[in-house]
Amino acid sequence: MAISVSKARLKKIHRELAARGASPLSGALSLATRFAPKRALWKLFLAYFNGKEPAVEEDFGPFYRSLVGLEQIAYVLIVEVLGDMPGPDTDTWELSDRQLRKIRESAQELHRHRAKFVEAVRWFCLPKNPKLGVAVSEHRRLLSSGKLEWGRYPNIDMENEKFVRYFEQHGLKDFTLRASLCGVVMVRPRLKHLVDFFCAFLLCECANKGYAMMPIKFCVRPGCGRLILPARRTKDYCDDCYSRAYWTPEKRFEHRIKNFPETMKRRLRREHEERLARKKMRAKKRAKKNRKKMRIHQ
Ligand SMILES: [Zn+2]
Repeated sequence: MAISVSKARLKKIHRELAARGASPLSGALSLATRFAPKRALWKLFLAYFNGKEPAVEEDFGPFYRSLVGLEQIAYVLIVEVLGDMPGPDTDTWELSDRQLRKIRESAQELHRHRAKFVEAVRWFCLPKNPKLGVAVSEHRRLLSSGKLEWGRYPNIDMENEKFVRYFEQHGLKDFTLRASLCGVVMVRPRLKHLVDFFCAFLLCECANKGYAMMPIKFCVRPGCGRLILPARRTKDYCDDCYSRAYWTPEKRFEHRIKNFPETMKRRLRREHEERLARKKMRAKKRAKKNRKKMRIHQ
């Protein structure tokens, strides 16, 4: 290839960009969502990605609790974050039928877009190894004629181009900004789809960054695949896997006796091991018996 940038140089560029926090989106997004702290937006993003209910710290009233699944995400996004719809009447804490209908429809739209979104975000976070989209000779021809755009098809293959295009469409083209006067001049986003907000937010926070520098991480239990904001309490596991994977029987036992004196710990550990050995033995015997029974039946 005619032009080559060394990996070290590329890394340096990425680091500099990330350190500057330079992104044309970031200013606009923080203005548009000025009431929502970034962590709350991430939580909403993760709730959508992981297919869970959003963990909101505020109590939005009984009507909010009657919303299910994606309706809650739609409500928080439309009313609390974007401010595109007035909240519930403060006397009755109820939404009008029209508002409820809008939330239901938005939830359905979120549902329709979710599978593609999940696939795209997964691609975004994982390492990418694009190939050339065309033969080397054709690539060279395009390069010399000045028609080649770096990082886009055919400089990359169609499979990767598909995802780049997805984020460009939803995060940059469908997400537009409007100025409005609400007491003060405000800049608010106008979305074509609700998923555009999540795409713009991801681009704003994670573009120009490698996975190592992103604030979100995949849960470390193999086969889980959920995304999390790593927390000190749950380490690098998601909430569900933390109790299952992190708290193995050994760890649970050690945690239980951690404040006991050393001599007592030794005795308890010995008893614990004996108990486990007996349990193993019984399981072994049971399996043998079952095998025997199967043989008889055959
Ligand atoms: Zn997990």
